[in-house]
Amino acid sequence: MKQQIRNVKILDMKDKTKWVKTDVTVENDIIVSIDKGYECDKYYDGNGLILSPGFVDIHMHEEGFTSDDDSFDIGECMLKMGVTTAMGGNCGSEKTEFHKFLDHIDHKGSPINYCLAAGYNSIRKRHGVLDQDKPSKDQMRKIQENLLELVRDGAFAITFGIEYNPNMDIDEILEALEPFKGRQDIFVAAHSRFDGDRAIEGLVEMIEIARRSDIPFQISHLSSCCAYGRMEDCLNTIEEGLNQGIDLLVDTYPYGAFSTQIGTSVFRGDFLKKWNASYEDIILTEEPYRSCKLNGEIFKKAREERPDMLVVARVMKEDETKKSLKKPYVMVASDGLYNNGKGHPRGAGTFPRVLGTYVREGVLSLEEALYKSTLQPAKRLGLDHKLGRIKPGYQADLVLFDPEEIKDCADFEDGQRPPLGIKQVWVNGQLAVEDNKVINNRLGKSIRRGMR
Ligand SMILES: [Zn+2]
Repeated sequence: MKQQIRNVKILDMKDKTKWVKTDVTVENDIIVSIDKGYECDKYYDGNGLILSPGFVDIHMHEEGFTSDDDSFDIGECMLKMGVTTAMGGNCGSEKTEFHKFLDHIDHKGSPINYCLAAGYNSIRKRHGVLDQDKPSKDQMRKIQENLLELVRDGAFAITFGIEYNPNMDIDEILEALEPFKGRQDIFVAAHSRFDGDRAIEGLVEMIEIARRSDIPFQISHLSSCCAYGRMEDCLNTIEEGLNQGIDLLVDTYPYGAFSTQIGTSVFRGDFLKKWNASYEDIILTEEPYRSCKLNGEIFKKAREERPDMLVVARVMKEDETKKSLKKPYVMVASDGLYNNGKGHPRGAGTFPRVLGTYVREGVLSLEEALYKSTLQPAKRLGLDHKLGRIKPGYQADLVLFDPEEIKDCADFEDGQRPPLGIKQVWVNGQLAVEDNKVINNRLGKSIRRGMR
């Protein structure tokens, strides 16, 4: 079937300056023409709005499935904000086992196209390495074999949550990566060991891992690592690495608060001091602690009782995040994460917030914001031959939005509230969202690395 979206504005994503008013024709799941005047079976009126390639979220956290009947939660939030492809398995964490997750999508479909990274911390744990231990020789061999198997079966990256296993030192990380040394067809992404007053040390370690493993590297969620008053120094540190020819990219989400589980090592020691914050800046997200006024005692009790509960920490300087987004090596990504439907609004608002609020404030141009949300992450995934551009032969994942109206609406009360201004979203050539309503949430497919 041939469908046409008429009267739209599209950006040449390679050139990043040329806008064209045209019609876009899709046959089955592929874009076949960006010229006017094609006969089709079905027409949509784009009303002169912007038609963009579907957004590619290179850093998010997939659903934690416990049974075959589980429905998609964050996947739907992604879809409603215009994301059509996302990579889970970040920060070393596998919320659902790799094969189980992709097989689930193969059987049931998904709101978006999904790919995964191999999460090192989860694999380490699966091979019996306790938090406070280091892997034995035998365990490391099994971990390496496991990583090789996942990369062979389609993982796009290997990710580390260095902060979450403080005993994981640089030697362990490099040893785990040894079988992949020099490979350019995958990448490594890491959540830094340190944030706040020690952010630079964390960056230096990650750049060292990139240099010695000789694998393309992605620094995860820069804002939650660096936006505490020293962003300028952090960006200079990254640029020193780039100047040495190291292949580095960065992702960030556009907020002044971060979110993670209360039981993690993020909250050990004098965590408030390192962010120069107080308990008033910390919000717990689930009952009976939801939005309650915190002090040290209540925080400690909640941490012991409910280690999986998400915490929102309003401790970052958003102006510094904005500054980082001006840099060409910084991409937009949500780091979206929900537990029982609760969590940080970034999982439902990241892309509209950058394309709306940030663009209108003049933080970056609409063209740059679109590139950082589409072709740039598609390139890092090695999928830029079929994702991230509106061009004949490319996959028909599309989002129609109003640049005047687009705006994130999710907040810390309702972290899943859908955005405004996203008019329609197509996934694999079929309409998935119309006026913020999901009309088909099973159009997405699994993507395995190496698949054409
Ligand atoms: Zn992380």
